[in-house]
Amino acid sequence: MKEIQRREKYIHRKVLLVDDEPVNRQILGLIIQQHYNVICAENGLDGLRKLSEAPNTISLILLDLIMPEMDGYEMLKKIQETKEYRRIPVIVLTSDKDAEVKCLNLGASDFMPKPYEDPKVILARCKKAIQLAEDRILINENERDSLTGLYTRLFFLQYAKQHDCYCHDMSMDAIVININRFRLVNSLYGRAYGDRLLQTIGSLIAEILNDTDGIACRCEADTFYIYCPHIQDHDKFARSFISKFEKAVENSRITLRLGIYEYVDRTLSLEHRLDMAKNACSKLRNTYKSDYNIYDSLLHEKELYNEKLIHEMDRAIAEKQFKVFFQPKYDITGDKPRLASAEALIRWIHPEFGIISPGIFISLFEENGLLQKLDRYVWNETAAQIKDWKERVKRYVPVSVNVSRTDIYDLDLIDKIKSILNEHDLSASDMYLEITESAYTDNTRQIVETVNELRSLGFKIEMDDFGSGYSSLSMLANLPIDALKLDMQFIRNITRSQKDHNLLLVMLQIAGFLNVKTVAEGVETREQYEILKEAGCEIIQGYYFSKPLPAEDFEKLLIKEM
Ligand code: C2E
Ligand code: MG
Ligand code: MG
Repeated sequence: MKEIQRREKYIHRKVLLVDDEPVNRQILGLIIQQHYNVICAENGLDGLRKLSEAPNTISLILLDLIMPEMDGYEMLKKIQETKEYRRIPVIVLTSDKDAEVKCLNLGASDFMPKPYEDPKVILARCKKAIQLAEDRILINENERDSLTGLYTRLFFLQYAKQHDCYCHDMSMDAIVININRFRLVNSLYGRAYGDRLLQTIGSLIAEILNDTDGIACRCEADTFYIYCPHIQDHDKFARSFISKFEKAVENSRITLRLGIYEYVDRTLSLEHRLDMAKNACSKLRNTYKSDYNIYDSLLHEKELYNEKLIHEMDRAIAEKQFKVFFQPKYDITGDKPRLASAEALIRWIHPEFGIISPGIFISLFEENGLLQKLDRYVWNETAAQIKDWKERVKRYVPVSVNVSRTDIYDLDLIDKIKSILNEHDLSASDMYLEITESAYTDNTRQIVETVNELRSLGFKIEMDDFGSGYSSLSMLANLPIDALKLDMQFIRNITRSQKDHNLLLVMLQIAGFLNVKTVAEGVETREQYEILKEAGCEIIQGYYFSKPLPAEDFEKLLIKEM
């Protein structure tokens, strides 16, 4: 049954048998017609005529060499010169070794000695030649991208891996080339124009490959990959590629981005290496001019680290990996500094990375819209801690929590804070709110409304990081706040720089004019403390008194000082 099916498969193939000897045609014809339809020709010229009558249906040519009118060599040459015939395998009928070499050079695929061999061998040779040729066509069709002539992705990956096997020690680069906003280009200028751009890139890449011995493909619309031996001067390479492209395209609105990952790490999978080039390329996504970018492993590690933090935040909240620390604030208006309040500052006690400072994750979470959730958690934990101290230790101070910019946009902000206080039997005077100065300049109207409402409920509002933003005097005059927290930068230099000292005095005057208290944070030395006391600053927070403390340690301080 199997045999029949296989025969069926080959029975429709046509074989052109070109031989001037009728006897030969008859013997060979009889053998191969068991499996194929046979067309006979008496010489090269006749053969070409028969070919031209049915160019696409002939699967194999059996060709004698010595013939009148046109010999086998000449016909072989003609076949190779004609695009439609080139794909047809030719088996040359000869036993002359010298002739074999010549025929191979002219494109023959195999030989059949005369006198003819066992019919089974002949049929097997025919079958093999046809199979090989058909496989080759199939490969050709899938190996190359029809638009650009570069490899397709699958073959590119295959050949790149092969290259790695043969040349273990060669330093290689992976390069990605993309057209900026290609989809838009297509819809603005039409698909045909888009196709021409891709072809232009294809031929420019082909030029590079001639010089560098690399391979390239087009994968997905406008993404091109190049895998090539290390290029010494990437700047020169990229600039020259871009300038050739610009010259060819003559449209300043069409721009390219190139991502380069040099000295690829061979321990990574090839796909991974290309992703790194892509990663470098995607950094240029929003640029409007052609540009290139080289993969930076440090930057990438930082991105991965950030991704991990973002990914883990929810679980860390659920597992209480975030701990609230408390930094005391001292009132220095009297003879002796007096513990007056504290600021709640978050730390992430990460199971893998240890203690992570908020300087690392606060802005990250803010950019990714996660900060509100963390802030709620901090307010809640802080409220629970105050309640605990109030009830168990019988000593406590008001604690200020940080309210970030994104919280201000939350329409439920006030309800949320109120409900946290209610839940813990606290009043508005137990929890101060610190709002950074830049939040005020971002959205003055909304913040003024929100802050007014919070104050009418009894909350005390401190403007954090004062001096780091761009508050104007007239804006300050209309702001509803209870204290200005001077930005740490000023405090840092007041002992060394007369200018900063003067600025401090101005800021204290502003506070006086607004009739609000001033808090100085980041106070580290006795000298700074004395200058601030002398200048009339009321509240001090900083390492001079204490670092932010875990709740247990702050509790000891409460017991000692109150
Ligand atoms: P911030 O609100 O201005 O907090 C003051 C920062 O100064 C804290 O840094 C504190 O540890 C640090 N600090 C205090 N005294 C000194 C000192 O004498 N010398 C020096 N060099 N630093 C001092 P921290 O805890 O790293 O927090 C950094 C920022 O992260 C905070 O600045 C705040 O903007 C933000 N942050 C901290 N916790 C939270 C939170 O729960 N929610 C929100 N939204 N932001 C928070
Ligand atoms: Mg603060
Ligand atoms: Mg601050």
